[in-house]
Amino acid sequence: MQYTELGKTGAKVSRLGFGTMRLPMSGEDINRAEAIPMLRRAVRMGMNYFDTAVGYGNGECEAVLGEALRDLRDKVYISTKNPVWDHSSPEIWRRTLDQSLHRLGTDCIDFYCVVHGMDWQTYTEKYDVPGGFGQEARRAYDEGLFKHCCISFHDTPQNLIRLIDTGEFEVITLQYNLLDRSNEDAVAYAHSKGVGVVVMGPVAGGRLMHPSEKLMRAVPGVSSTPELAIRFVLSNPHVSLALSGMGSMQMLEENIVSASCEQPLTNEEYESVMKLAADLKRLADLYCTGCNYCMPCPNGVDIPANFMAMNMNRAYGLRKLAVERYEELHKPEKNEDGRASACVECGQCEPRCPQHIPIIKQLKETTAAMKECKA
Ligand code: SF4
Ligand code: SF4
Repeated sequence: MQYTELGKTGAKVSRLGFGTMRLPMSGEDINRAEAIPMLRRAVRMGMNYFDTAVGYGNGECEAVLGEALRDLRDKVYISTKNPVWDHSSPEIWRRTLDQSLHRLGTDCIDFYCVVHGMDWQTYTEKYDVPGGFGQEARRAYDEGLFKHCCISFHDTPQNLIRLIDTGEFEVITLQYNLLDRSNEDAVAYAHSKGVGVVVMGPVAGGRLMHPSEKLMRAVPGVSSTPELAIRFVLSNPHVSLALSGMGSMQMLEENIVSASCEQPLTNEEYESVMKLAADLKRLADLYCTGCNYCMPCPNGVDIPANFMAMNMNRAYGLRKLAVERYEELHKPEKNEDGRASACVECGQCEPRCPQHIPIIKQLKETTAAMKECKA
């Protein structure tokens, strides 16, 4: 395992962190019998950064993490996040922090994302205002309830730079991967300011879990697409660590191997991947995390499934598979049509997309591309 300084925090963290959002489930509950040995094995294999959140694992994740790491607490860094809901008040914010401490079984959280999914609007309207969450966060910090003030981030790169310039946040957790490099310049800026950068989604919300000969050809010797995805992220010198959401012991072991090379990619390999990434850049517009916030569509269009089919075609050149997936969305026997072509452009979905994807325009492109693939 490789280690690095996390910004100016003084913490030496493993370059691969354990993202707990995909712990194995058994129905609605986390499968503790599988999850706990995985978490403990990760520590034994050298991983020391564990990231969780209040809502992960149907609200169970913090407690499972606390249970798994209770006797290993001095060997690990724990990060969790405070969700700021519409109805949140500073009192609710503080109660949420107290509950996280209790579930994690700790007196102090190492890296606390004071807002889960901070954006500039939240910062200016709810955080940095008299009586806002910021005051409550500063009070909790003074009480020693967390060591480092952090955020996870979902907004534009320009607003990321504005948040960095506030000087308040020591570590930022954000999206960055081969398919979405939009934060790359802001990541370099964060690094130049001594802010630690934690990357979530190195495998692009699961899209880079699919085998892709096209991608793997860029680096001969890479054994899988997820391996390439993790090595790509870690080869960026401005990235402190990558979080990987691991759902099985096998995945854990494979990812640790991927993160263990001293030089994740040679210069030549990096150039080759960058060239490929440039070819794929046009895909950035279509980047969809599959979060489902845009759903339901009143007209039955399955928006993320259409974008998934489109990506299979554009990113990997898997035309046949893309069309198959697209046509599966049409179920005449049930009188349902979830294909992009069923969009009536009502516009209800677009304001709900945290990635600000121009959904209507891209659904039209999907319709045209699928017709072309079929021809
Ligand atoms: S714009 Fe299209 S996809 Fe979006 S909600 Fe309306 S019909 Fe559905
Ligand atoms: S809200 Fe945006 S990112 Fe999320 S599934 Fe819909 S289109 Fe994709």
